[in-house]
Amino acid sequence: MLRGLEEGPDLRANRHVIQRIEQLGKSARDSDPAEDSPIPEAPQIGKPVIPEAAGEIADEPPKQERRAQAEAFEELRTQVLACTKCPHLVAFRHSVVFGVGNPTAELMFVGEAPGADEDMQGEPFVGRAGELLTRIIETMGFQRSGVYIANVLKCRPDIPPGTPGNRQPTPAEMQTCLPYLRQQIELIQPKVMVALGGTAMRGLFGKVEPMKDMRGRWHSFGSIPVMATFHPSYLLRNQALSEKRKVWEDMLQVLERLGRPINERQKNYFLTR
Ligand code: SF4
Repeated sequence: MLRGLEEGPDLRANRHVIQRIEQLGKSARDSDPAEDSPIPEAPQIGKPVIPEAAGEIADEPPKQERRAQAEAFEELRTQVLACTKCPHLVAFRHSVVFGVGNPTAELMFVGEAPGADEDMQGEPFVGRAGELLTRIIETMGFQRSGVYIANVLKCRPDIPPGTPGNRQPTPAEMQTCLPYLRQQIELIQPKVMVALGGTAMRGLFGKVEPMKDMRGRWHSFGSIPVMATFHPSYLLRNQALSEKRKVWEDMLQVLERLGRPINERQKNYFLTR
């Protein structure tokens, strides 16, 4: 089941982890894999596993440095909230969705663009997909407020009046807005990033490969390792246990890269019989 993840040079260093997970999987196949699911069949999700160190930051920077970083972050936020670089999006948006979470987080999640809910609330990843992302974060042992969550595009892509749903941002829109995300990343300096979905990968790297080929592998944004995984909304559309396990395996790689503890329940989520 994990064979696909073993392919490719980027995963060789993690092979021992994958082997450990497979061994654990064999012993777990007598139990119901969906019982403790962090990624549910519906919006309701099982109780998260939160280790003792949840949400803590291992290497706190000195106080002065933190203050300077916080000020720079606020300056950037002020600048972005007033941005008018994309007139068609400025005319359509209710709010600029800058980002949310801990500006000194070791883990950062990056999505594509705000949808209708995010535009109204001014916060990324709210609504059903946001709930699912929050539960995944909590199941990894973090608090949502302990990581940082942002999108490549800070304003909701416009759609014709009266049209339901959202549209994907164009490459040009993402290119225009990308410098803000770059500045956020430079200030936060996360140890690891997670790119949520193919559009986010396109915005970050210009990559247009299918997600099935990009996910489960490490990519590099400058010096920062980036794990590509499916967008939570994909998991809401596709309830297959195998797809949930793929995302969870990606998150196990992230935890391993961060040196975070992984308990037995976490290792065994979504293992198929
Ligand atoms: S999408 Fe980005 S660049 Fe465009 S107006 Fe919004 S904040 Fe500015």
